Amino acid sequence: MESHENALEVRHLRKAFGVIKAVDGIDLELKQGEFLTIFGPNGAGKTTLIKILSGLTKPTSGTAKVAGFDVSEGNPEMRKEIGVISHSTCLYADLTPLENLMFLAKMHGLEEPQDRSLKAIDEVGLSQRRNDRVRTFSRGMLQRLSIARAILHDPKILFLDEPFTGLDLHASNVLKEHLKKLHDRHRTILMTTHDISCGLEMCNKVALQVKGKFAFLESIEDVDRDQFEIMYFDAVRNNQFVMGIGTRG
Ligand code: ATP
Repeated sequence: MESHENALEVRHLRKAFGVIKAVDGIDLELKQGEFLTIFGPNGAGKTTLIKILSGLTKPTSGTAKVAGFDVSEGNPEMRKEIGVISHSTCLYADLTPLENLMFLAKMHGLEEPQDRSLKAIDEVGLSQRRNDRVRTFSRGMLQRLSIARAILHDPKILFLDEPFTGLDLHASNVLKEHLKKLHDRHRTILMTTHDISCGLEMCNKVALQVKGKFAFLESIEDVDRDQFEIMYFDAVRNNQFVMGIGTRG
């Protein structure tokens, strides 16, 4: 990717599931090295947005470029530039952590795949379980392995959908430290979370997604934290009255 290019360019992005408008006209630009946290009530379309950006689902209309690649084209080269933590773990249950990561390392053409895989497993504190089958793992252990999978190839751009889900306090702190280091190393990060203090502390841009749209998108230095919290909690409270959650008609 050329340095002058944006890491992320999203124009009028939409994704509908029948009458539900999960993503409803999102525009976004992120430069390389920026860290955007997206908050939003359940069903606001945050996961759908991340799935589109990571090439897991196609938009209904609009465009998204990630590291210069059009996400709709399914270019395998884009996968080398991104790391993803999502609800669907993309792990092979019948393989061990080491086998899972070595498979991925070879797919990415990484040098010394075993050493890279062992290092990533160690970083998420799973060394003692590296030869056990993934199907025997607890939720938190699966989440740790998903993190190892996302960072294995040191991607330029990370899409993190509620990455702290299921992690114990120690693993959460380790992940926070790791994300800070990645941000310092100019990695681009787009993260969704419901944890307001952690999400605000880490980012340099913050968005509030409501019914498929960005109701708010600002640089963190322009954000009044108290006002943002009020707006966020209002959005969450109003969402309780929306039948079926997503946007209709
Ligand atoms: P949460 O905070 O609960 O994780 P979210 O903001 O990530 O929510 P999404 O998972 O993106 O929200 O869902 C947005 C809307 O799209 C919801 O109404 C959801 O039911 C709907 N939706 C998502 N995926 C599908 C699908 N495959 N088929 C039908 N509807 C879907």
